[in-house]
Amino acid sequence: MAASCIFCKIIKGEIPSMKIFESEKTFAFLDINPLSYGHALVIPKHHGTKLTDIPDDSLTELLPVAKKIAQAAGVTDFNILQNNGRIAHQVVDHVHVHMIPKPNETEGLGIHWPQQ
Ligand code: 5GP
Repeated sequence: MAASCIFCKIIKGEIPSMKIFESEKTFAFLDINPLSYGHALVIPKHHGTKLTDIPDDSLTELLPVAKKIAQAAGVTDFNILQNNGRIAHQVVDHVHVHMIPKPNETEGLGIHWPQQ
């Protein structure tokens, strides 16, 4: 954990978030400035700025959790994005994977996040 990191504060509950999932190593919550309805972030609890700063065993759940929360919300089409470094448009210095739903042209998103 890093004292000044906003995502570490979200994990600890010091900054409120719309939590979707939590396990021993992983945390997922809704993005505060969503690119589409249901835009979620999946993060390792281990603090590190870039993928190379995080041990492999703290990264293994990121895609499975992104898949799980998309499935749970009924999202079939989505983009997975991981900005790694400033030049790659990383703003928050704690590794995170974006799960960005893409609306179905006829039915929209129809997302229903499961109850906590
Ligand atoms: P990046 O550009 O670093 O890949 O994306 C960082 C993401 O974190 C952005 O989509 C931004 O909206 C989101 N974000 C930044 N601060 C907060 C916050 O305090 N709470 C939540 N839920 N999302 C945040």
